[in-house]
Amino acid sequence: MKTTIPVPATLRRRGAAPPPRPSTAQTLTGPDAGPQLVLDFAAAVDLATTMECQLAAAPWRAVEAGRWRRLVYVGGRPVPVKVAAAGRSLEFFFDAARDGVRERLEAMFTLQVGGLDLDRYPGLAVLREQCQGVVLMAAPPLEMLVLAAFDVSGRAPGRTQVPFDAVVAASGGLTLAGLAALPDTGAVSGENVRRLRLVAQALLGVVGDDDGLAKLVADDRNLLAEVATLPHVNMATAPRVVIAATGSRIAMPTRTALLRICTRLGLLSRQPSGRHDVQTAAGRLARIGDIALVSELLIWLGRAVCTTRDPRCGVCPLASACPSAAAAADDR
Ligand code: SF4
Repeated sequence: MKTTIPVPATLRRRGAAPPPRPSTAQTLTGPDAGPQLVLDFAAAVDLATTMECQLAAAPWRAVEAGRWRRLVYVGGRPVPVKVAAAGRSLEFFFDAARDGVRERLEAMFTLQVGGLDLDRYPGLAVLREQCQGVVLMAAPPLEMLVLAAFDVSGRAPGRTQVPFDAVVAASGGLTLAGLAALPDTGAVSGENVRRLRLVAQALLGVVGDDDGLAKLVADDRNLLAEVATLPHVNMATAPRVVIAATGSRIAMPTRTALLRICTRLGLLSRQPSGRHDVQTAAGRLARIGDIALVSELLIWLGRAVCTTRDPRCGVCPLASACPSAAAAADDR
């Protein structure tokens, strides 16, 4: 059955609704309490699209209009965190007595799309303009491996149904050894869990322990090489893990949805096919400015609007600069 993924109103080309009204600290925590952390950005934060379009955002759950919540794990222990946008800022609410949460959140919400080098192609320049308020999210490699294991084809990344907290609890706080010994029971069961366990066992064999993994993360090229050769992980997934973990721009994921939208936008001369062709095309794309950093956005748009047979150019935020928009409309 074909699934149509809704495009958030903040990104629709026509009939766009105004961005969500910024919330205030008082509405979240009471009249006297303020946020425990405020991160400032250059443009008004589009938190709805930030949470919708990235795999790294999957652990966050919308709890009220314009507000999201998740458990952030520090030293394996969960800390509830809420976030809301307030104009050009993100405001975070959590137990300030818990060490390490602030640093974890500062590392999690990084650059905004509006500040990236995306001018080489008109389609990418429009992407930067339309999505300037989207904040790129980072995540540790184990977290991304868990999320990627449940990111089944055809679902928007932000809509991935991941038993994330159950996996973290079952693995003893998302340790590598815990993932390698993941039980197959209750909410943590099935083929995805079996694959995740095999990936963790192989990674454990490469790095030895969590400290060894931390050392590997310091070198994005080595991390990419090691992750890409793990069982059930390939160049469709490994760059997603490495980009989120290190901010690396050295490789693009070979996802079909990403290559399709890049071809229609004129970044590739034709849709690649075959393993070698696909990898060559992804390598070519990776050399275009900061495109690797928006690969999650492109994957999401490729799934949500630039679908294989019925591209939804009428609601595509990139239509004004897309050389395929008219042809795609004529084909329908
Ligand atoms: S305008 Fe149409 S063909 Fe171009 S990227 Fe958007 S959905 Fe795809």
